[in-house]
Parts: sequence; structure tokens; C-alpha cells
Amino acid sequence: MSNLDPARLPELDEQLTKLAPVDRLRWAFETFGDRAGIGTSFQPAGVVILHLAKSAGLPIRAFTLDTGLLFPETLAFKAQLEAKLGIQVESVLPALTVKEQAAAHGAELWKRDPEKCCEIRKVDSLGKKLFELDLWIAGMRRDQSNERSSTPLLSLAARPDNSDVWKLNPLVDWSREQVWAYLKEHDLPHNVLHDRGYRSIGCWPCTQPTSGADERGGRWPGFEKKECGLHTRTKKGLGG
Ligand code: SF4
Repeated sequence: MSNLDPARLPELDEQLTKLAPVDRLRWAFETFGDRAGIGTSFQPAGVVILHLAKSAGLPIRAFTLDTGLLFPETLAFKAQLEAKLGIQVESVLPALTVKEQAAAHGAELWKRDPEKCCEIRKVDSLGKKLFELDLWIAGMRRDQSNERSSTPLLSLAARPDNSDVWKLNPLVDWSREQVWAYLKEHDLPHNVLHDRGYRSIGCWPCTQPTSGADERGGRWPGFEKKECGLHTRTKKGLGG
């Protein structure tokens, strides 16, 4: 367990900003060891992060939140990527199956109350996982949407009991073009749904193909909702 003083956040953020993403990951592993974890939903940025860690010999554990409502293509891509990189990505499951959720809250909760559905299927699962970690590595980038334009590289996030967990977005300052160029350069695969117009891929009931500047514009069509709550509900004061 790392004893990093939260007061060092501004100084560490400044140091890490000067480093390449792979060296940010090296710092993460050297500082936090097996208390660091890469959370991924297999978007291109996540693929880059997993590949950088693997190529640099950094055995950082990885996990994904399997809501039970992921596209079959996403699940197939997970298996493809694990085989390609020789890694295992842990599937973290919600407390309720989709059937149990329907029995408790009604069928297709995502159509009536996506906040509640995301809370049960994503936010609560992540919250449990964060108790095993001191550093959560995520794939947020500032150019993904207006809502993400001021995302910090390093921050302090909150576990469900409001205790601190460090959070690192090693590709925060990369553009979409840089991410895709990296995949091409290293002959890395992508989720086939990207070839069908999906730009940001989540659960099948809440994701549509989209075009335009907002990469996340196809998420939760028909709702004001822009984030599932993973990054907003765990946010702490210092820019999380
Ligand atoms: S993205 Fe949609 S289906 Fe998935 S957890 Fe959130 S509301 Fe439910």
C-alpha cells in the first residue's frame, strides 16, 4: 500500500505531465504495485494503455465492469485482445443479474431511470473494486467531450466510504487521432463496432452510432445524461 501524501498531488501531477504515457504507467507500477489497476471498457485508449503496460513489462492488473448488457462484439473483442496481448482482464460483475434487477426495479430500468441502472450495474461494482486499489488507472481523454475537457492527469477520487484513491489518466492529453495512430502503428485490434459508426461503446441499450465532435454523443440517446457516474460520482475536490 502506498503512503503517498495527498498534499503531493500538484507536485506529482506536474512531474507526470512531463512524462510519456509509458513512463506514467511505470511510475504507477513502481509506486503502487499490485494496488494499481487499469479499468477498461476496451475503447481504443484502453487498448493503448494495456499494450503500453504489457510492452514495458509492467504487470499491472486490469479489470472491466461487465454489466451483463455489453454488446456481444465487445465480449468477443475482450477475448481477442486478451489472446493477442497474453493478459487476463478481470470481469467485475454487479450485485444483481439483469433478471434480478428486473424483478427488483422493473424491466428495462435503463429506459426509465438510467442513473439508477448505471448505479447498480457500474458505479456500485467499481466502488467495491476501488477498495482493492490505491491507484485507479482510467482511459479518459480531454478531447472526448466538453464534459471531459478539463480532466486531470492525476487526481484523488473517492471510494464509497469517501476515502481517497488515486486516479491516473495516462492518455489524458492524447487526441483521438493519436490513439488510433498508435493502434495502427502497433497492429492492434479494435472493437468491430467502431467500423459501424459507434465512437464510444458502452451497454447495448444505451449506445448508438454517432458522428460529430462529441465522441460520446451516442451514449444515452434521449436523455441529458452524458456520464455513467463512474467518473463523476467518484470525483473528489482536487480535480477528480
Ligand atoms: S449504460 Fe445503460 S444499460 Fe448500462 S448500466 Fe447504464 S443505464 Fe444500464
